[in-house]
Amino acid sequence: MLMNPIDAGIQEIREAISSRQASATEIVDAFLGRIDQYDGGVNAFREVHADRARQRAGMVDAGSIDGPLAGVPVAIKDNFCTTFGTTACASRMLADYRSPYDATVVARLEHAGAIVLGKTNMDEFAMGSSTEASAFGPTRNPWDARHVPGGSSGGSAAAVSAGMCTVALGSDTGGSIRQPAAHCGVVGMKPTYGRVSRYGLVAFASSLDQIGPFGHRVADVATLLEVISGPDPRDSTCADIASEPYASDLDRPIDALRIGLAAQYLSDANDPAVAAAVDEAVALFRDRGAEIVEVDLPHTEYGIPTYYIVCTAEASSNLARYDGIHYGHRAESGDGQDLVDLCCRSRAEGFGDEVKRRIMLGTYTLSSGYYDAFYLRALKVRRLIKEDFDRAFEQCDAILCPTTTGPGFRIGELTDNPLEMYLNDVYTVNANLAGIPGIVLPAGTAKSATSGADLPIAVQLLGPIFGERKLLRIAATYEAGASRPSMRPSLAAG
Ligand code: GLN
Repeated sequence: MLMNPIDAGIQEIREAISSRQASATEIVDAFLGRIDQYDGGVNAFREVHADRARQRAGMVDAGSIDGPLAGVPVAIKDNFCTTFGTTACASRMLADYRSPYDATVVARLEHAGAIVLGKTNMDEFAMGSSTEASAFGPTRNPWDARHVPGGSSGGSAAAVSAGMCTVALGSDTGGSIRQPAAHCGVVGMKPTYGRVSRYGLVAFASSLDQIGPFGHRVADVATLLEVISGPDPRDSTCADIASEPYASDLDRPIDALRIGLAAQYLSDANDPAVAAAVDEAVALFRDRGAEIVEVDLPHTEYGIPTYYIVCTAEASSNLARYDGIHYGHRAESGDGQDLVDLCCRSRAEGFGDEVKRRIMLGTYTLSSGYYDAFYLRALKVRRLIKEDFDRAFEQCDAILCPTTTGPGFRIGELTDNPLEMYLNDVYTVNANLAGIPGIVLPAGTAKSATSGADLPIAVQLLGPIFGERKLLRIAATYEAGASRPSMRPSLAAG
């Protein structure tokens, strides 16, 4: 094997396999070996499907599996339904759940020849920003095990960062792809709402949830998006818009590029290294001939309260199905119990604290008397936030902003302070409320104020609805110009 598959992108892996420099089996074995060696310390995977992965790699080598991703090792978040293994959403509630069908994205990945190595850890039901709220223990940041990898797709971000897979998929309801990508030093993208089918994605907040890719390079993220996007008759919210050739025209220069900056995202709360990363990106785009324009997003500050009303309301409704009877963990039957009692005890045992908190908040805001004051009002503000972006994208092609105010916090630092945890999403939730795409790009490191560790930081580019093709080209411009070597942590065996 001439190349090191751990550092390779999708194209290199494909070339190595088709030129017979490496077999898919060797490549998959190299990644499974890394998982064996390092995942004890990271806990990125909730479940590894080594035998199945080896078997499929053998089929790639025998020529019976082919496609644009043939032999490429992929990890998927534990909230994607798969007919193999379990789909637990990192919850006790679904710990033994076996899905009778595959999510559309999983079917598309496998149809393209990808090798799914396993399911990655996450915050329970995707509710969280740190991957600490998992019934299977926290995931640790591969850059420094004292820190969180971000969340809720922390397992997917950590697995890519640690070289335990080439690319991965996550879901982003309020930042769950972009924030962990930033904290782990990888590229992560949330596509436009409706770009990728949600069929088989266990629902958290259906009007916000969107599936998207992680990788080390923009090209890998573009290739993955190309495979998973496009119409799906099984998801009526999936747009009737065909997938586009995102990867092939990444190098095509962009004429008259306009990059927007919004004062609302450039707050004093940003770590100086994050502010400097945004400044450097501005200089880079200016150097490439871009015009920098100021845009105004006046309703930005209402994003967090609006998001936490909308997502909890939808969660309380989506999670009503887990009653221990139709779905989910069932409590031991006790003496003289009735159905309501069984349901209450099953839910009390099956759900973790954060999920319970969200269900209670959501039930409250939807209850009569409070619906108008909270939920309906939140929907109106959501519209205003969307209109802010509509106006801004009349003036620019993409908005450049931070992803988070600073690097990843320490494990345990925010677990007793849910409000502080929610505030972590300040730069990510508005894209979900507006349905627009966003991509996060590694932008060097910053020193953690609490541990002194050097941890990744990132910049974020937001684009207009269904503007992925151009957004990816703009991201590739940044990546090429920033000329940072792809960021890789050094790992301790665990
Ligand atoms: N951190 C946000 C939350 O806790 C976003 C989660 C997500 O995008 N799935 O709701």
